Formats: sequence, structure tokens, C-alpha cells
Amino acid sequence: MSILIQNGTLVLPNGPTAADLRVEDGKIAAIGPGLSAEGCQVIDARGKLVFPGFIDTHTHFEMNKGTDRETADDWTTGTRAALAGGTTCVLDFAEPDHGCSLQSALDAWHSRADGHASCNYSFHMTIVDWDQRIRDELPRMTEQGITSYKVYLAYDGMRIPDGTAYEIIKAVGKEGGIVGCHCENGDLIDESIAELKAAGKLSPSSHPLAHSAVIEAEAVGRWLALAEQAGYPVNVVHLSTQRGLEQALLARSHGQPLYLESCPQYFTMTDEKYQLPGFESAKFVFSPPLRKQEDVDALWEALSEDEIDTIGTDHCSFDYATTKQLGKDDFSQIPPGIPGTEHRPAIMYTFGVKGGHIDVLQMMLSMSERPARLFGMFPQKGTLAVGSDADIVIFDPDHTWRIHAADQYQNVDYTPYEDMEMAGRTDTVLLNGQIAVEGGRVVREGLGTFVSRGPSQFWR
Ligand SMILES: [Zn+2]
Repeated sequence: MSILIQNGTLVLPNGPTAADLRVEDGKIAAIGPGLSAEGCQVIDARGKLVFPGFIDTHTHFEMNKGTDRETADDWTTGTRAALAGGTTCVLDFAEPDHGCSLQSALDAWHSRADGHASCNYSFHMTIVDWDQRIRDELPRMTEQGITSYKVYLAYDGMRIPDGTAYEIIKAVGKEGGIVGCHCENGDLIDESIAELKAAGKLSPSSHPLAHSAVIEAEAVGRWLALAEQAGYPVNVVHLSTQRGLEQALLARSHGQPLYLESCPQYFTMTDEKYQLPGFESAKFVFSPPLRKQEDVDALWEALSEDEIDTIGTDHCSFDYATTKQLGKDDFSQIPPGIPGTEHRPAIMYTFGVKGGHIDVLQMMLSMSERPARLFGMFPQKGTLAVGSDADIVIFDPDHTWRIHAADQYQNVDYTPYEDMEMAGRTDTVLLNGQIAVEGGRVVREGLGTFVSRGPSQFWR
């Protein structure tokens, strides 16, 4: 069955263009004005924007499995929610247990995702141990389509020393892949938490104090120093502060190639959310935390100037009524994370495009094309081009609505964006050439396939 998307505005690499697009056998077969509709199912996209499917560079589905801190969204619900919002591919973080191989984590994540996912997917590999055995696994990861990695400079059980981070950047760089880093100074977080607890400051309002801007900025600077010395490009995930951004821009001014990811929450909310009554603020506890308005402004400026490369969500959902309550008497025990994969396209369109910070091309670049390039999926994914996979979003820029947990696909009992008004909505989604979302509702589930990725395609 061929599908013809007629009369839409296609967001192509050179900008929005009025044209038709024909899909055949799961691929984009033709792009141009006035394409013949013969033999095609026709979708009228008049007045709508047609994007290459959005890629969420940062999700955590079915994390902490089997513990009291298991995430609310599993692979079935998380990918269904992502799809409904217009995300056709997620990059989730596979996490090996201590002492276990990367292969064991890859196998575990495949067993959770394969056959359950409603959007396409691949995995970043988290490295928590580093020795010759793990190093020897990297080529085998490459063979299996895994070319991106993550390390943490904070959190007991996850954090690695600087020397180890340096070695990992080099080893992954030689493989043609890229390492992303959670940039926070782990020692300072631990010291700050201890001081706050000793002072009896146990509520969620302490969370941003234990994860201050300098704690991020120091780690960004250190991470980039390690990368410069190692001689390979790296990624900074979920950048949240002006001061962290300044570290990155300074490194760039010296010619260092590096990539920056940020997330919708850091563009749309501030740390005022940590002053809510009762335990409500726990709904906004994630790391790094929400920041000041000046940070929000700096991130928008950086995105508008193409200094921020990708927008992911860090979707990591915990139910408020149960799991978040683990930290009711101690903010440091609140499982950190928020849902968001369902709402990213609408939020970035509403606040970014309608808000006058970015244009639709920049939205496409940050959420489709650059993620696909950085993570080795381009041009199979991330662009509307003849021969590319038909992962396509038809977005209605005139549909106003409000986000409510009560009618979200995300399988979690709240959303940090509750009652926010959206000025646009994903209407129709084609996944691998099949109509999977119509009128904002998922009509076909379980069509997601694993995306085997190649080396990073650097542009910096
Ligand atoms: Zn994360």
C-alpha cells in the first residue's frame, strides 16, 4: 500500500517547503509538488507541518526493574506514549549491573523492548565498570549496532573516576562512537546532602541546593577537559545551566568539538517548583534540577543560535502516589525523574516556535536530524528524503489543547506539565511506512523495530 501525504508543508533540511510526499514499502519514495495519487491512500496535510519522525535521545523505560524504584513506564507504555506525541525513535539507556558485561545489559534491554515497542528504538550503553574485559566488548557492541555510551560523574554505584572517563572516551572514540556524560560533581552532591540533612532540611526544597549550578558547571568543564586531552568529541547530556553552557562555549571557542543535549523541562519551568506546598515539589525532583529564569533564557538563546544540538527528555517516570513517597521524610531518597517523552514535540513547538525562540527548521534539526547524525542513524532516520525510512509526523500547528495526566498515554499518575496550554499537536504518525497515530490517538501498536546504528556522523 502506498500513501500520499498531500498539500502539507514539509520541513526539509533546507527549510519548510510546500510539497507532496509518497511512501512505498516503508520508505519515502518521492517528494515533490503535485505527485500523482493513483493507487495511493491519500492523507490531506493542508495547513499542517510534515516533519521527519522525532527522535528522543534520552529515555529510561523499565529502569530499576524488580525494585521498589522501578519506573512507571515500561517498554509497552513508554514507547506508545512517545509515538502518540510524534516520537518515532527512542534511544534508551541500557545499564549493566556491577560486575556484569555490556552484553548482559544489551540482552536484557532487547528482551524488554523487542516485540513490545510501539516506536523504533535503540540503546545507549552505560558504563559503570571499566577493565580489559569491558574494553574488549566495545567492538562487539559496534557489530550489534550500539555506538553510543554514557558515563556518570555523580551517584554512588554509577560514578567513575576521571582517569576512567578519559580512557572510555578514547576507547569509544577509536570505535567511531561517542560518550555522553551526566555532568555533576558527585563529591559535592554528597557533601551538600549530608549538610542539609544534618541541618534538618529534609524537604524537596533542598534538592536544588544539593545540585547547584556550580556542581553542574564544574563537571561540564572537567568532562570537556578529559575529552580535549583524549582527543575525541563527546556529548553532554541534559545540560541545565547557563554556567554549564558557558563552560561548553569556552571549550568551543578553543576549537573543541563537543555536543550538547538539553530537555524541555529546562526551557519551560524554574526552581520555583521546589517551593510548592506539602510534598508536591517531589513531582519536580530530577537531576540536574530546575534552575533560574536566567538559565532558562540562556538555554533558549543557545538553542536559537544552534549551540545546543539535541533535545531529549530524560523521561524517567515514577508514580507520585507511591514511588516518589520513598523520599517523603528525606529529599535525597526521592527517586529522581519525570515523565516527558509524550509531550516533547508539542512543548518545543509551543514554547520554542510559537514562543519566537526557534523556527520549525531548528525544531526539526534538534529533534530529528542532529540526533540521527550524532547517533549514527542518518539518513535512514532523521530526514525527509527519498530512500529514507518513512517515519513521519504530521503536526497540526493550530490545534490548541492542555496537557492533563488524566488523558496522557504515559503510564504514570502525574505530569510536571499539568494544565499547560499547547499551541500545536501531533496529528498523524507514520512508523516504518504504516499509519500508527491518527487524530492524536495511537491506532497501531507494537510496530517498533530495533535500529542498528553506525558510527557517529560528526558535524562539529
Ligand atoms: Zn537520564
